[in-house]
Amino acid sequence: MLWYQKIPVWFQKMFPGKTWRKETDQRKVYLTFDDGPHPEITDWVMNELEKYSMKGTFFCVGDNARKFPAVIEKVKMKGHALGNHTMHHLKGWNTPFETYLKDVETCSMYVESKLFRPPYGRISRRQSKAIEKNYEIIMWNLLSCDFDQKLNRQKALEGLMKNTTNGSIIVFHDSEKAEQNLKFLLPPYLEFLNQNGYTCNTLFS
Ligand SMILES: [Zn+2]
Repeated sequence: MLWYQKIPVWFQKMFPGKTWRKETDQRKVYLTFDDGPHPEITDWVMNELEKYSMKGTFFCVGDNARKFPAVIEKVKMKGHALGNHTMHHLKGWNTPFETYLKDVETCSMYVESKLFRPPYGRISRRQSKAIEKNYEIIMWNLLSCDFDQKLNRQKALEGLMKNTTNGSIIVFHDSEKAEQNLKFLLPPYLEFLNQNGYTCNTLFS
């Protein structure tokens, strides 16, 4: 994972061909949730989003999608979008080219999507070039840092609010590891977005 809450623009420019934010002058942001689906946590996220009629994009680990197909169906039924996050949450830099591509392909059997996000944000140029042929690679420009077990939650929340801009792509995790932080951060952040006139759509819209 890249340990910046806000990804600097110079850094984004080092990796062309990937989507870090959406170019828009409208008050729109894109909420993304990685590492699910999880039978309780993903459901909790969808309920929170529903309170404000917001939609999100769920980058699912194929192996979790295989275990919890009913959650995948519910995500689709509720009008959210799915994204491929590899079958086994592989680190691109440490994984041979063919193995990585095959893992992405296996995930696609359980998660139907034209969106891909590399786990940990780590992907080699060669892997990335091959995947770009079939997917839009979605990175992010704002991290909730909910995966951080030592997170200063109040500071993280303030950072999210301060750095939200039109077109921001924000990362949360619907995973057990992130659950406590997620449950602290998401409700007030959604309230903030709503109060400030932001709409949240899937990355397909
Ligand atoms: Zn992940």
